[in-house]
Amino acid sequence: MKKQLIIIGGGASGLMAGITAAREGAEVTILEHMERVGKKILSTGNGRCNMTNLSLRAEHYRCTQKQFPMKVLDRFSVWDTLAFFDEIGIVTKNKNGYIYPNSEQASAVLDTLRMEAERLGIAIRLSCQVKSIRKKGRQEFFVDTDQGMVCGNRLILATGSKAAPVTGSDGSGYDLAKRLGHTVITPLPALVQLRCEGNYYKQLAGIRCEAVIKLLCDGRTLAADQGEVQLTDYGISGIPTFQVSRFASVALAEGKAVTAELDFLPSKSMEDTRLFLKKRAAAMPERMAGDFLVGVLNRKLAGVLLKLSGIALDQPVRDIAKPSLEKLTMKLKQFQTRVIATNSFEQAQVCCGGVDTREIRPETMESRVVPGLYLVGELLDVDGVCGGYNLQWAWSTGAVAGRSAGRDEG
Ligand SMILES: Cc1cc2nc3c(=O)[nH]c(=O)nc-3n(C[C@H](O)[C@H](O)[C@H](O)COP(=O)(O)OP(=O)(O)OC[C@H]3O[C@@H](n4cnc5c(N)ncnc54)[C@H](O)[C@@H]3O)c2cc1C
Repeated sequence: MKKQLIIIGGGASGLMAGITAAREGAEVTILEHMERVGKKILSTGNGRCNMTNLSLRAEHYRCTQKQFPMKVLDRFSVWDTLAFFDEIGIVTKNKNGYIYPNSEQASAVLDTLRMEAERLGIAIRLSCQVKSIRKKGRQEFFVDTDQGMVCGNRLILATGSKAAPVTGSDGSGYDLAKRLGHTVITPLPALVQLRCEGNYYKQLAGIRCEAVIKLLCDGRTLAADQGEVQLTDYGISGIPTFQVSRFASVALAEGKAVTAELDFLPSKSMEDTRLFLKKRAAAMPERMAGDFLVGVLNRKLAGVLLKLSGIALDQPVRDIAKPSLEKLTMKLKQFQTRVIATNSFEQAQVCCGGVDTREIRPETMESRVVPGLYLVGELLDVDGVCGGYNLQWAWSTGAVAGRSAGRDEG
């Protein structure tokens, strides 16, 4: 029997699911509540769309059920994804394993998905608000919308998370999943900036520097990363901050105190830094302390670290006391700042939390709670690190669900 498949959500995972199912012979209808599909795809990779990553391993994903993401990703791999996009017309560019469309235009990824959906005759209803979902019989779904009733024998929820709601993912999918009987692990912002305590941040806004960032909580290191940290007027941003941010989100939600520790001289050990400062002080005793780190660190950042070490900027370097030099070593290598909060869902790129994957079959993405219902993409309790891993999750879950939901079982 030909499958009639309804997909709620026309983002990355929904479009992939629709195309895969239509290729299996299903009649597909996508219900999208925005005025166009795939809005979020357009903002990915700063408008260039980091589609996937050639180096994909289990540690790139977080999920309460640790084994779950790879079970799905192995069923529709990075290579399957590249073959799929090649087939629909995307020539890719490989930047150290990070994959982009050759045109470096996210719109190209969306355009090719739209064109393929159109070629396959997928019906797309835009600005369509879902009011309720009813299930009658074994596999009959009735979706009541402001554009009338839509019926099908398979349903895919591809509504995304709560991150960047301006693109359409406003969290309404969590309610739909809950109403259908699913459990939702509290969604929290991830891949997001961290707001930190300290009255010096206003001075530091706009500075970018190579650093190691470690998140500390209850005497443990929760996560660490290295790269270009951006200092802002409220705290820290940049890729390494994003990479550790979901751990801050979770710990803060549990009411724990979280500290970010920055190493501003990652190429030198603590001991090397100590010796380096000692030698430098001996080599330039007549310089003003305010100029002591010129050529080492951004001047404004150096000024803040010197002051926090109790060093007056207008004294000669020769007058810097030994304990102050030691303090400066510590500030350079282990600058600690209390994390008060993350930025909100509006600024987050993804969410951690979502529909509990224990309720989903990884072989098909079908719900264990409601037969005939499938859940895909960021709606689930899986979040990847920066680097193309979240879109890969959307492509893989979409394809696995589409393949199963669309299959004509005769
Ligand atoms: C600024 C930014 C940059 C990013 N860059 C990258 C990157 O370069 N690489 C990468 O891998 N990942 C990136 N991501 C993450 C990636 O975009 C998402 O993980 C991915 O788009 C999730 O796909 P999805 O289909 O699950 O959800 P979405 O793409 O969010 O799609 C969900 C769709 O469902 C619709 N919808 C929601 N609720 C309803 C409803 N009730 N009824 C009808 N329709 C509904 C929404 O309007 C939307 O169209 C980025 C995210 C952001 C915000």
